[in-house]
Amino acid sequence: MRLIEQKRKDSIYLYFLAKGERKYLGKPDKINHEKAKEALYLLDTQITEYKSCRNKIEKLLHGKHEIEFKDSKYKMVFFDMDGVLFEKPWHESISRKVAISTWDLLFKRLGQYDIHEALKRNFENGLYGDDVDNYVKWKEATCNTLKIIPLDEKTFQEVTDSRILSRGAKEVFQILKKSNIKTAIITGSFYRLAQKAKKELDEVNHIRAHCQLFFDDDGLLKSWELSKTDYKDKIKIMEELALKEGIVDKNGYPDLNQCVYIGDDVNDLEAFGAVGLAIAFNAHKNIVKKAADIIIIGGDLTEILPPLFDFKKDKEKISFYVSKDVKDSWLNFAKTKDYSTLPDFIIKSIEFYIEEESSSLKT
Ligand SMILES: [Mg+2]
Repeated sequence: MRLIEQKRKDSIYLYFLAKGERKYLGKPDKINHEKAKEALYLLDTQITEYKSCRNKIEKLLHGKHEIEFKDSKYKMVFFDMDGVLFEKPWHESISRKVAISTWDLLFKRLGQYDIHEALKRNFENGLYGDDVDNYVKWKEATCNTLKIIPLDEKTFQEVTDSRILSRGAKEVFQILKKSNIKTAIITGSFYRLAQKAKKELDEVNHIRAHCQLFFDDDGLLKSWELSKTDYKDKIKIMEELALKEGIVDKNGYPDLNQCVYIGDDVNDLEAFGAVGLAIAFNAHKNIVKKAADIIIIGGDLTEILPPLFDFKKDKEKISFYVSKDVKDSWLNFAKTKDYSTLPDFIIKSIEFYIEEESSSLKT
C-alpha cells in the first residue's frame, strides 16, 4: 500500500495504491472524502491483520500467551465522543489552534470560526451564568448563530461524514462486548454524529448526545433540541445508565466505582471525578491530564485495554541518540516539557536544538 504524489504542471495529484488498484484521492487541498475514507478503511484492515499476524508469530517465537480479556473489575465504560471516539479534527502546532470538537469544525467550514471562538469566550467568562447547565444556554446561542449564518443540511452532513473513528476504536468495542462490559457514549456534540459512531462501532449499548438539529424543506437549519449531557450532567447520565444495567452497590444505588470514563477535555472533568477509573485520552490540556488516573497519549484507543483488564502490555521502546555533550540539557528538556504526543515532542526537541545551535553559532 502506498500513497503517491504525482506532479503535473503546477498541480499535485494523490493516488492510493492498494491490492492492485489505484484510487484517485484528489489534490492535497481538495481531497475526495469518500475515496480518502475508503483508503483509511483499507489501511485499518491492514493494521488489524498485521497485529494478529504479529501476535501469532510472536507467540510461536516466545511461546507467549495471548492476552485474554476477562475478569475486568469494571462493568461499564463511558466514552466521550469528540476527540476520543473520533480523532481530533486537526492537531496542535505552533501557528494553529487546536480544534477539539465538531462544533469547531462546523463553524470553520462555514467560515465563521471567529464567531464560535467569541461565543466560547463568552461562556468561559460567565456570560451565561454559573448554573451547572449554563452550557445549554451557550449552545442555545450557538445554534441561534448557526441558524442566522445559515447552516444547511448538506454542509452539516459533510462535516459529520468527515469525522474519522480513532485508531483501534472498533477493536475496543468488540473486546468490551466479548467481555460483557457495557458501553455508552455521552457527548456534548451532535446526535447525528453519535448515531454514526453507533453504526460504525456496531456494539454500543447506549448513546446520549447533546444536540439534535432539524432542517426545513429547503435544507436550512430550522430548530434544535438540546439535552443535558455535558459537564456535570454527564454524572447524572452515568448514574441513570449504570442503574439500567444493574451496576449497583449493596443499597441498590448506581455504583460508578465499577465504571470507567474516557475523556479528553475540560467538559469531562466532573465525570472523571465520579468514576472508579478516569482515563485522559489524547488530552492537550494539563488540567485534564492531572485530573485523570491514567493518561494516554497518541491516538490508539486500544491503549485503554491494559488498565481495564489489569495487564501490562509490552511497551515498544523508542531510542533517541543524543550526543554526550548535550545529554544533560536534553534530559532536562525532556523532564520539564510536557507535550501531548510523541511526534509533537520530537518536533519540539528538534526546534529546541536548532535554536541552541544557531545561538551558539552567533556567539
Ligand atoms: Mg471531547
